[in-house]
Amino acid sequence: MIVDYHMHLRGSVESGPEPLVHTLDAIERFLEVAAARGVDEIGFTEHDYYFRQTREVWRTPYQLERCLFDIEEYVGAVVAAKERGLPVKLGLEVDWWPGGNERLHELLAPYPWDFLLGSVHWAHDLEIDFQPGLWAVRTRDEVWRAYGDSVAALARSGTIDVLAHPDLAKVFGWLPSPETLAEVEQQIVEAAAEGGVAIEISTGGLRKPVGELYPSPALLRGFHERGVPLTLASDAHVPENVGKDFDGALAFARSVGYDTVTVFDGRQARQEPLG
Ligand SMILES: [Zn+2]
Ligand SMILES: [Zn+2]
Repeated sequence: MIVDYHMHLRGSVESGPEPLVHTLDAIERFLEVAAARGVDEIGFTEHDYYFRQTREVWRTPYQLERCLFDIEEYVGAVVAAKERGLPVKLGLEVDWWPGGNERLHELLAPYPWDFLLGSVHWAHDLEIDFQPGLWAVRTRDEVWRAYGDSVAALARSGTIDVLAHPDLAKVFGWLPSPETLAEVEQQIVEAAAEGGVAIEISTGGLRKPVGELYPSPALLRGFHERGVPLTLASDAHVPENVGKDFDGALAFARSVGYDTVTVFDGRQARQEPLG
């Protein structure tokens, strides 16, 4: 079994920089690429801050500018595809958002999610994966500590099923001291194991300045040693990237000993043979 459990349902690049399109046609474009790349099942995971139903929790201009779409249309399109028997799952990429987490999950509770991805894109309301963001006001060690603390809290929160891009803080290739890196990685491994979440191998990092898979080899070894289950992720924002570079992701998973992948239905996880 091969799943791609991280992608954003968008139209073609020609229709604008961030064209959210919640139609069966758009879903079918993603499925065509999945089939061509041998991916058995895909999960859509739009960002939570694109939906006006979540507007009340956001504080940053980046989020508030994007909070324009109807979550009912997104959920409805994916549910309709499921009802036609298409191999898709309904997910959402949910931010760790101190001060707003409780309300955010109340707002998301009515919908029939198959799984929720948990992400840390901000700490202290400043971006980890955009510049200048938090990098402009903190040292690299401080950014990584803040990132690790947030990921650990997210993993232990009981609110999400999968940790997305578990070492996103390396996105620009800016690492902390080796001691800090080892401590933050250990912190994230412990939190994932104790929180009972899965983690993803994401090929999205190959298309970022760092040019690497998420997570690092040391982090993936730690997850496997602690029995943390696995999903696979492209973080595609266009159909062309679904299942991209999955040969390398599968080889990476096997190299540390993974032989199963996690499949979700209605937020229940089960293991299937990998590949
Ligand atoms: Zn993300
Ligand atoms: Zn994403």
